[in-house]
Amino acid sequence: SCLGRIDEVEPDVHAMISTWRDQAIARAKELDSRLASGEDIGPMGGVPIILKDNMCTSGQPTTCASRILKGWMPPYDATVVELLNDGGAIVLGKANLDEFAMGGSTENSAFGVTANPWDLERVPGGSSGGSAAAVAAGYVPISLGSDTGGSIRQPASFCGIYGLKPTYGRVSRYGLVAFASSLDQIGPFARTVEDLARIMEVIGVPDHKDSTSQDVARFDFSSALRRSDLKGKKIGVIEEIESYDYDPRVKNALKETVQACRDEGAEIVSISLKAAIEYGMASYYILAPAEASSNLARYDGVRYGHSSKEADSVVDLYLKTRREGFGDEVKRRILTGTYVLSAGFYDAYYLKAQKVRKAIKEEFARAFEQVDSIVLPASPTPAFKIGELVDDPMAMYMADVFTIPVNMAGLPGLSMNVGFSKEGLPLGVQFIGPRWGEEELIGTAAVMER
Ligand code: GLN
Repeated sequence: SCLGRIDEVEPDVHAMISTWRDQAIARAKELDSRLASGEDIGPMGGVPIILKDNMCTSGQPTTCASRILKGWMPPYDATVVELLNDGGAIVLGKANLDEFAMGGSTENSAFGVTANPWDLERVPGGSSGGSAAAVAAGYVPISLGSDTGGSIRQPASFCGIYGLKPTYGRVSRYGLVAFASSLDQIGPFARTVEDLARIMEVIGVPDHKDSTSQDVARFDFSSALRRSDLKGKKIGVIEEIESYDYDPRVKNALKETVQACRDEGAEIVSISLKAAIEYGMASYYILAPAEASSNLARYDGVRYGHSSKEADSVVDLYLKTRREGFGDEVKRRILTGTYVLSAGFYDAYYLKAQKVRKAIKEEFARAFEQVDSIVLPASPTPAFKIGELVDDPMAMYMADVFTIPVNMAGLPGLSMNVGFSKEGLPLGVQFIGPRWGEEELIGTAAVMER
């Protein structure tokens, strides 16, 4: 039925880069027969899922929505893929994204734009727009995305579903194609809090193949999912957001959410996150491109994917391969990144941005001495029109103002739908927790879901 749903809706939504029809059916049959012989097929047994196409899948194309990886087949599975396979899941295919996860609308894909299932003229958000649209359109109950500066939480909000960006170090990044390694984190999309929690129990495990993976206790969300109210909980609202100019529909959705939290017994506490709101976005767009420029140096036409046919020397091969293989936004990031890392400008940009990052971390640490979680919008606007911001990279970057600080501080953030605008556009908010505070977020979302 999932494949049927894809056949029906995919021509309009275009969420997928590849659909693994035959493998999925074969896998389902295999699981059926194992089940019939009394075997335990695992916590994800028979659950169809979709992966963002920046996670390595053994013997299956992994494109990152880039021409430069054309034809590349990873020789191994990402750790999350391995965990899901071991847990009994059925991978149905791989979803569209902004090239190398750089973007907020899924318009930067070399394989075309994905539409928002709620309004086909609008973007699904990004960069994990395909994964979010696939869940919203009912292809699968759960998908995986990655979040470097908001790429799970913003598309979840645009598509009216749940999305969780785990604490940095919670989910293994082994086999996730790197964008900005100190910020990247894999996480799930789902249509219920329980589904979100269940898949986290499977993928949120330590991994020696990722040196930043942390050995923290395994999840058991059972009690969080049963939480009945928010009594005794302190939820922070950010002072600086009051005066921030953003879409009144989102502003109103936040106001109503805060009231709903109060009605459930939470105490609302005003907190200050000045550096996060004022300087987070600017410093992220120094640090993320800096890391990206280094990570993307490996695409040289020798080791991976596309290799220019026109070259007459090694240097020429590098130049032509990269010129032909990368899209405009990726080139923009590489240029910014190499500039801010260059000898003359390192102190003025990269070093300064690192200081801002530290200030943001400390600010959050102080805030979490006062509150259990923080609530704020996932995006300053609901889903915008396809084409509306493509020629204005600055405006596109500004749209990440509320999601970026969470990555800078390595914290978990859960984005959820809290209603719809008059035009029928989903409106979302995010709850942010302290490091390793996923359980608090799942518990809060479980209460708000009712
Ligand atoms: N929109 C942000 C960017 O373009 C975030 C992307 C992401 O989280 N992968 O960098």
